[in-house]
Amino acid sequence: MHVSTGRANQSDSRMFTVVVEAFGLGLQRQAERRLLVSFSQLQSTVRTIALQGGRITAVLGPGPASGEAPLAPQSPSQPAPAPKAEAKAAPSKPAAVSHADVPVNLYRPKDPFMGTVTENYSLLAEGAIGRVNHITFDLKGGEPQLRYLEGQSIGIIPDGEDANGKPHKLRLYSIASTRHGDNLEGDTVSLCVRQLQYEKEGETINGVCSTFLCDIAPGAKVKITGPVGKEMLLPDDEDANVIMLATGTGIAPMRTYLRRMFEAKEKSLNGWSFKGKAWLFMGSPTTANLLYDDDFNRYQQEYPDNFRYTKAISREQQNASGGRMYIQDRVSENADEIFAMIEDPKTHVYMCGLRGMEPGIDEAMATAAAAKGINWHELRPVLKKAERWHVETY
Ligand code: NAP
Repeated sequence: MHVSTGRANQSDSRMFTVVVEAFGLGLQRQAERRLLVSFSQLQSTVRTIALQGGRITAVLGPGPASGEAPLAPQSPSQPAPAPKAEAKAAPSKPAAVSHADVPVNLYRPKDPFMGTVTENYSLLAEGAIGRVNHITFDLKGGEPQLRYLEGQSIGIIPDGEDANGKPHKLRLYSIASTRHGDNLEGDTVSLCVRQLQYEKEGETINGVCSTFLCDIAPGAKVKITGPVGKEMLLPDDEDANVIMLATGTGIAPMRTYLRRMFEAKEKSLNGWSFKGKAWLFMGSPTTANLLYDDDFNRYQQEYPDNFRYTKAISREQQNASGGRMYIQDRVSENADEIFAMIEDPKTHVYMCGLRGMEPGIDEAMATAAAAKGINWHELRPVLKKAERWHVETY
């Protein structure tokens, strides 16, 4: 929304009253609110209100620089012209995520579901670093049936005992299949697992659960708990825009969203006709480490108007300062466009993967917001409250 402010003057001390409906959506919905703002704050206030899903019903003023808000329209004796608010404010209804009927903790650690491994294969190409596998479990026969939604996680309890002779604790993994499963029969769940490996005192240590999963053979039974998680659910709105920021196996929930949006058989089953824009930013150390890359390239070819795929290949590409190309560098390069999308209340941002990407992404967003006179550190919690900023990082 653009507000004409008449005589532009940075040191202008005129004050305006902005009348807003449904300002601060989510926790503090209000019928009407009046905000007294200075001339210099006017543009950014209008943008912030639009971003929060508020609807501006009037902009009154200008009035005196201090004291009570001048609630009456501008009197004819006042020389300065009143700012004109454009008739069309941003849509007032943000695309909140539906939490209705979300399955949670159908199976708990004391009485887990015993899933059967149906397949376990590497997702990596020749020359890739490490091990990342796609592992599928049969969920048939559960009472209740273990069902889940895109964006949720399940727990895996690896066989065996820890150093103290106690059973291993569960580890959570983001689900990589849609609710219908890769076989579309609604009775499987898939994970995307990197084998954790690190050096300690000159020795290579393998992660307990990730090694258990990467090594497991079809036919083996595995203890599964959950599902859990409501942070990463997709909105129901078919017109929503979805920006996805993933590093490594953080791609798991994004794969579920993209299959739901663009995979032909999944689409015909789910009846969800996505019409918005989806933009995936994927961070990977090498091209050979890109996960589900063929599928995403195919979606981009088939749906060029709805899907964009931007890669940050850290050990093959360089950022503007000559360092490793990280996902936040790609966000910086595209920050204005991303920010313009975020100004639309139908846009959701999902971030999953390494916690280390968060500060860089914040910085990129703060720069783009500042260029528009908006304080990102004030706006981000507002987006979070409106359920449009979704983060699951480790
Ligand atoms: P990976 O294949 O090693 O790829 C990670 C990519 O991110 C690499 O290109 C890496 O670059 C880059 N990177 C490293 N530090 C970064 C930073 N500070 N900012 C931005 N990018 C950075 O990844 P991975 O081993 O699968 O790790 C993924 C992480 O996601 C794990 O920590 C895992 O626990 C987590 N994860 C979280 C969820 C969840 O939240 N639900 C689900 C799945 C996975 P270089 O290595 O070249 O420096």
